[in-house]
This record gives sequence, structure tokens and C-alpha cells, in this order.
Amino acid sequence: MKDIIFASHNLGKIKEMKEMLSPLGINVLTFEDIEMPDVEETGQTFEENAALKAVTIAKLNNVPCFADDSGLCVDCLNGRPGVYSARYAPNRDFQKAMQMLLNEIEQAKTDNRKAHFMCVIALGYPNGSYKAFQGRVDGKIAHKPHGTSGFGFDPIFIPNGYDQTFAELGEDVKNTISHRANALRQLVEFLKK
Ligand code: IMP
Repeated sequence: MKDIIFASHNLGKIKEMKEMLSPLGINVLTFEDIEMPDVEETGQTFEENAALKAVTIAKLNNVPCFADDSGLCVDCLNGRPGVYSARYAPNRDFQKAMQMLLNEIEQAKTDNRKAHFMCVIALGYPNGSYKAFQGRVDGKIAHKPHGTSGFGFDPIFIPNGYDQTFAELGEDVKNTISHRANALRQLVEFLKK
């Protein structure tokens, strides 16, 4: 078994990664096994933030490490909240955050509700280098929240080709077409080689 660290405190994501990587003979180490301080997301892009986390923790433990960064980019808001998506929600209150975002779009006085979710997974090495995998899903912002599944901005995001939000479509559909699933598939393909 080869060791690789996953820099995340999200137990759902950790379980998913372990399930996908163990058949490849890869042992996923987490904050329960190794030293993993919080790395501040000071980058201007998803890639910078993911790479910063991955490389910092890979160097600290002398083991390769992967990390992800993701967010929602709205066209008529010039791509915001983007890398600030997690911090856009006051006290992580996403009901409020969604309402704030819907108000902002209202104020932009446009019919253009196009948006996309982005996810970058960076695989960092102890020598400071890294490789990035980008996933993206395009869609539009609903006029109000619908559905209860998922997290964050899921109740207001309708992916292209569907007429329901991620929160209505549910995990099975979301996990096949999402930005994160897309980036993860690329990481898995890379690790298989
Ligand atoms: P991260 O955990 O630093 O990658 O921040 C991700 C933030 O982007 C979350 O807090 C959400 O606001 C938003 N986000 C990213 N991916 C999703 C998703 O799949 N559904 C809903 N919101 C998401």
C-alpha cells in the first residue's frame, strides 16, 4: 500500500476518498493519523489555495498530499463569490448567504443567471511541486431555494440539462455530474498510472 494524505476535515469527503482510492492500493491518511494544521486560504484562485494546503502538509509530513478548494462563480457578479464562497456565508449560515446572493443578482438587473461551480484538487509533493486537476459544472441560479439535500449553495444551483436544483436532484445525480466528482475522477486516473 502507498500512503497519501488527504488534507480535509470533512468526514463525508474523507469516506468517499478512502473508498475510491483503496482499490488502487492507496492508503489515505487523514488528520487522525498525521500532523495537519489549518492552512489559511490566502490565494487569489482555487488552484493557489488547493496547492498551498497540499504542499504545506506534504512537506510537513514528507508524504504526498492532496487537497481541494471549490466555490460558486456567478457571471453577472463577475465571478463572485468564487474563492470567497465559504466566507460569503455569515457564520456559515447558508440560508442567509443564498438570500444575500439572490438579492445581489436582483440588484444587478439582468436576466443572465448563468453560474458555475469550480473545484480544483491539488496533489502536492514534499519537494514543493504539485499537479492540479480542475472540475467544473455549468448551470444557472434559481429565483429562490428549492430542495433539502446537499450543502452550501445547492438549493439555488440548477445544472445545465436539468430543471431542478442540486438540492432537489439528490446526491446520486450530483455525485455523477458535480465539479468535485469531475476533478476527483481526474485525480484517480492520474493515480492509477
Ligand atoms: P471549500 O470547502 O473551501 O472548498 O469551500 C467551498 C465553499 O464553496 C462551500 O462552503 C460552499 O459555499 C461552496 N461550494 C463548493 N462546492 C459546493 C457544492 O457542491 N454545493 C454547494 N456549495 C458548494
